[in-house]
Amino acid sequence: MRPFDYRCATSPTEALSIAGAQPGRYLGGGTNLVDLMRQNIEAPAALIDVSRLPGIIEDTPNGGLSIGASVRNSVAAAHPSVRSRFPMLSRALLAGASAQIRNMATIGGNILQRTRCPYFYDATGSRCNKREPGSGCDAIGGFNRYHAIFGASEHCIATHPSDMCVALAALNATVQVAGPGGERDVPLLDLHRLPGDRPDIETILQPGELITAIALSPSAAAANSTYRKVRDRSSYAFALISVAAGLEVAAGRIVDVTIALGGVAAKPWRALRAEQDLRGAAPTKERFLAAADAELAAARTLDGNAFKVEFARRTVAAVLCELAGVEP
Ligand code: SF4
Repeated sequence: MRPFDYRCATSPTEALSIAGAQPGRYLGGGTNLVDLMRQNIEAPAALIDVSRLPGIIEDTPNGGLSIGASVRNSVAAAHPSVRSRFPMLSRALLAGASAQIRNMATIGGNILQRTRCPYFYDATGSRCNKREPGSGCDAIGGFNRYHAIFGASEHCIATHPSDMCVALAALNATVQVAGPGGERDVPLLDLHRLPGDRPDIETILQPGELITAIALSPSAAAANSTYRKVRDRSSYAFALISVAAGLEVAAGRIVDVTIALGGVAAKPWRALRAEQDLRGAAPTKERFLAAADAELAAARTLDGNAFKVEFARRTVAAVLCELAGVEP
């Protein structure tokens, strides 16, 4: 690890001021960034610690919820309003990492964590366009069991590792950002970028911008929602695929449905085609499978990850059956 300056901010304004004077990286719980620094994949000149900014979870005027960026993952997962009004978010948070890491990791840091592609972390032996633009990608043609089936490019096939972000995508969450140019709201769905020819640029955030909170709006589908993660072992593993979904049914028809997939792309993948197919339909297993098929028809697989299509198909249908109260 290379030497770096460390400053601790007590307010977003102070954090922005420090970053303006000395560009560096904002530090949340450090559960990913510090690992990257230890392995010389990231070497910021300065760390600006924002983990001690006031972390508040509070109701919003529209009946929604605001969750501060420095709130710990474990605190958000256990919050009564998150559990009752946005259960998919609580379940996604609890599906991530270990209890110890959830106690450290912050909401803001979770959003900005980087891929766990093994070639990205092998700084001395592997080619990686995300780590070193233009060097190549050893995952293509290599061990790509964990890699993308949607939105990949010839330059990078990595997936986003967050469970929480999959739920936030399905909930249409808004990310509140403060920066040198002022404050702005960014839909979570627009925050992360697909790799294209610049996989090293992972979000639309501008230099110095700081995530301050996420905002959630209430809905019947959000209240009737869940998250399911399929992985190689039952805990402390990243998703092979995951599904966050919410469902509202009235008079035997689907009124509202929201579905996002994890482990399939460089960003949480909103299943808009499947949602479109389901609105107004009867909530049956056959319709759920057909909607999943429609979404997955656009998947592009590699030697090691073709199984993800069938995994995603079955998991989408199983989750929606659970929410609809029909036999899976
Ligand atoms: Fe790097 Fe992306 Fe290729 Fe992985 S998939 S080696 S992160 S360029």
